[in-house]
Amino acid sequence: MKITFLGVGEACDERYPNTSLLIRGMDPGGPGGLLLDCGFTVPPLVWPWLSSPDELAGVWLSHFHGDHFFGLPALLLRLWETGRTRRLAIVGQQGIGDLVDRTMDLAYPGFRKRLGFALEFSQAEPGESLNVLGYEWRTAVSEHGQRCLAVRLDGPGGSIFYSGDGRPTAATLELAKGCRLVVHEAFALDSETVAGHGTVAGCIEFARAAGAEFLAVVHVQREVRRDRFERARAMLDAAAEVDAFAPEPGDQLIL
Ligand SMILES: [Zn+2]
Ligand SMILES: [Zn+2]
Repeated sequence: MKITFLGVGEACDERYPNTSLLIRGMDPGGPGGLLLDCGFTVPPLVWPWLSSPDELAGVWLSHFHGDHFFGLPALLLRLWETGRTRRLAIVGQQGIGDLVDRTMDLAYPGFRKRLGFALEFSQAEPGESLNVLGYEWRTAVSEHGQRCLAVRLDGPGGSIFYSGDGRPTAATLELAKGCRLVVHEAFALDSETVAGHGTVAGCIEFARAAGAEFLAVVHVQREVRRDRFERARAMLDAAAEVDAFAPEPGDQLIL
């Protein structure tokens, strides 16, 4: 499994695009790429990594804040422009199909009907296990201003956990247990707590408690990332029992 960190930023960072990951299997005959979250700054980052409009197999949307899903209209527009014919899986929480339809209608009225390829929606609610695109999907609710689902994907090459937005909860920790890679948002460093968001210190503790081999910290608040990130790096470097790092856009990890 190859993970590409397309963007690692929060909603309004002028230097770091919205957090988004591209997951691809190592088997060329596999189902194709999977995009985890698609905020408004993400679509331009996707194209250099795709060799054809049919390569992307699916999209996961953790929640409905703009920096996590407002890129979808532009993503679908270019897939249509470049001749995609393959069905696209879109996975998220309850109500996802209706919300995507309404978003498309606002962005490009009437365009949804002319797409030329099908959208296949799947709801991955906590307590359920879903099999889509060769992965087993499970979810848990994080603590965030809007309902957000952390997701765990088990597939060839291992298991990964992606928090979306939000502070860890007992349920998200249970979900992450045994994953090789934890990708977690950390809006703040440690002492300054921000309601509905994680911290670098909390992520390290979370990843250790989950028994993860790797921790990638993303979605760091822009001023923290700009002015105080040396401290975050020192905390990540000093983390025991887990290989913790803060990826830059374009960084890749192979599991
Ligand atoms: Zn966000
Ligand atoms: Zn959010």
